[in-house]
Amino acid sequence: MERNAIRMCEILVGLPEINVLWLDDVPDKALRIGVESRRSGEVCPGCGQNARIKERPSVELADLPAFGRSVELIWRKQRWECVNPVCDVSSWTSQDPRIAPARGGMTVRAGRWATLQVGKHGRSVSEVAMDLGCAWHTVNDAVTAYGAVLIDGDPLRIGEVSALGLDELLFFRKGAWRQLQWSTCLVDVNKGKLLDLVEGRTTEAPSGWLQKRESSWRERIRYGTLDLCGTYKSVFDNELPHVTQVADPFHVIKLANAKLDECRRRVQNATMGHRGRKGDPLYRCRRLLTKAKERLDDRGSEKLVGLLKAGDPDGEVATAWKAKEAIRALYEHTNTELATQWVETLGAELKEADKPEEVKSLGRTLIRWKKQIAAWHEAQVTNGPTETMNNLIKRIKRVAFGFTNFANYRIRALLYAGKPNWSRLSEATPR
Ligand SMILES: [Zn+2]
Repeated sequence: MERNAIRMCEILVGLPEINVLWLDDVPDKALRIGVESRRSGEVCPGCGQNARIKERPSVELADLPAFGRSVELIWRKQRWECVNPVCDVSSWTSQDPRIAPARGGMTVRAGRWATLQVGKHGRSVSEVAMDLGCAWHTVNDAVTAYGAVLIDGDPLRIGEVSALGLDELLFFRKGAWRQLQWSTCLVDVNKGKLLDLVEGRTTEAPSGWLQKRESSWRERIRYGTLDLCGTYKSVFDNELPHVTQVADPFHVIKLANAKLDECRRRVQNATMGHRGRKGDPLYRCRRLLTKAKERLDDRGSEKLVGLLKAGDPDGEVATAWKAKEAIRALYEHTNTELATQWVETLGAELKEADKPEEVKSLGRTLIRWKKQIAAWHEAQVTNGPTETMNNLIKRIKRVAFGFTNFANYRIRALLYAGKPNWSRLSEATPR
């Protein structure tokens, strides 16, 4: 048990080799604690001669909250100068990386804690800044700096990958005109892990990323999942020609739903002469149409049939709906041979002359991508990455809209969805 007042103070503050100089207890504000390093007597890093103190500058650091109050640490530092007249070194400030990194307005322990809150638990920077009683950018800088240690400072994070997914992701709005900026995510499909984010949605960045990996790493990849567009296909064709390309079921079904929607809007316009309004039958059934068939109860099914009867005189929307359900049924079994046949037959059927134009276009896409679509049944890769990315998008949108810096955004996304080794955080020290 400790009864010495000075020691009690030091134990409460809990930093190595410091003297507690003073406490400033301003009601309803952060508790301010003045400290200084106990170490003294530095030698010049240039010539090795003894140095003398030139100044005692103070830095203000946000620290972890204590006893329900936010805490600000005022660290009185030593600025040294060399006494040797022929030495080039002029002056330097003593550092203690156990207390705080050389830059940034936060103690090491607060920086690590903020990184965990924002990076792992997906809390917003402003929320965490409120907890710490400090500025938004202080937290954001810390998360970016400690995050970089866990992401780019850990060569083991990426690991071996047997199924690689490429997908586009809207990441932020840039500049005065808030232009949409796209990025490409590289995903470990089996582990549901975001491997990296690169700028743009062209072939360039993901190809460059893959070229930087070891050839042994690339050779271990067996499957490559992608959406139904040519960009990522050519990345796989060029950089990973040995992998089996797999169309992501999420994108296939999404396309079927998009075509259904297009068809509904066209028929709506053709029959009513205007865009969908509240009372229009086709407008009223738009949600029922995209809902999975098995999730419609009897009432929903009846309603859908009734509304289509009223608003879809030539049965075009109904045909597009059946096409969507037929594509969904493709994923209800896992038989590879059946899948190839199914895609070919279905694609040919949808392309027939009497089908609505949207359905025909869907049929053509199916035929064009039949190999990749049917390959899902062989690869049996899950929908995991798509789900992960959707969650990520939701989080990031809610929590971090307003990102203007890709590097910061990338670190944040990777902390949240890239499964970093969080046990490394207790040792993490930013450069
Ligand atoms: Zn010197």
